[in-house]
Amino acid sequence: MQEMKDIAEMHWKHDLLGSIEVGIVVLNRDYQVQVWNLFMENHSNIAPSVIREKSLFDSFSEIDEVWLRAKAEPVFSLKSPVFVIWEQRPYLFHFGANRPITSPSEFMYQNITIFPLASLSGSVDQICIIVYDVTDQAVSKQAVDTLNTKLEELSRVDGLTSIFNRRYWEEQLVREFKRNVRSPGDSSIIMLDIDHFKKVNDTYGHLAGDEVIRLLAKLISTVSRETDICGRYGGEEFTILLPDTAAENVMVLAQRIRQSVEKLTIEYEQQSISFTVSVGIAQFDPAFEQHTQWLERVDKALYQAKAGGRNQVVIA
Ligand code: GH3
Ligand code: MG
Ligand code: MG
Repeated sequence: MQEMKDIAEMHWKHDLLGSIEVGIVVLNRDYQVQVWNLFMENHSNIAPSVIREKSLFDSFSEIDEVWLRAKAEPVFSLKSPVFVIWEQRPYLFHFGANRPITSPSEFMYQNITIFPLASLSGSVDQICIIVYDVTDQAVSKQAVDTLNTKLEELSRVDGLTSIFNRRYWEEQLVREFKRNVRSPGDSSIIMLDIDHFKKVNDTYGHLAGDEVIRLLAKLISTVSRETDICGRYGGEEFTILLPDTAAENVMVLAQRIRQSVEKLTIEYEQQSISFTVSVGIAQFDPAFEQHTQWLERVDKALYQAKAGGRNQVVIA
């Protein structure tokens, strides 16, 4: 009678191990395989009869033995489980993804749990590794992360010119302002505005005006250094933040931009458009209490350049 019961129990345990959609591996103290369920068989193409009593490390070269021992030894000694999520390590067993057609991943992402199997005496001579297929979850998480990175990049740039927008540029200005407050350096800002731009729009049309703005942005980014932060501050107004740059060097850049613009002719639908820019420069002043004072000062310099007849650079 007892024998019948034992056989019945063995059957349902076998069925359970077979039908469950997770990998179940039982290892002894020498990391030899004791239990290998159908999930493991299907994904590894290794039958339980072949792998039983064999070392896991001999059968799967992709498993980092040092790493797995470091995870599993405490399970034997401390008798408490360990979890490893795919973000720490994408997989333990290099299995193919379940749905290679719908899944953009070549391999199966896995979360694993390692827990102790205590004997009647309480000692732990075996551990069980559960392998969860989390490919769908990992792939969609990565897609969301990529999208978020892209959105973050997009939220920084201006749609027309692809240089930084005002919000992001001003964030950088605040950072640079705080840095200069902590250790006063000679960072500067440039503010630049197209002269008589209304006339450009009125004469050549708004789309031609857009093209002028786009090409001016390109010129500014080309001429400035990699460490300079260029932004579109308003309609036809641009700002450049120059960390650790003495006023004379800022002047050189500003004049270079002004002269390049002066020489530039933009061809737009068989029309040749020429224009000029006025430029203001303001260096960081330790007397500033807020970054807005820096902006006010550069704005004033720009205003002076306009009042002085345009197509010129003024240092505040
Ligand atoms: P000033 O020399 O004093 O700067 O004269 P201005 O005509 O350039 O005067 P202001 O800077 O005040 O004029 C800006 C004009 O730029 C007004 C607006 O119609 C135009 N504008 C602003 N944004 C855009 C844009 O995205 N595209 C186009 N085409 N025009 C724009
Ligand atoms: Mg203008
Ligand atoms: Mg303007």
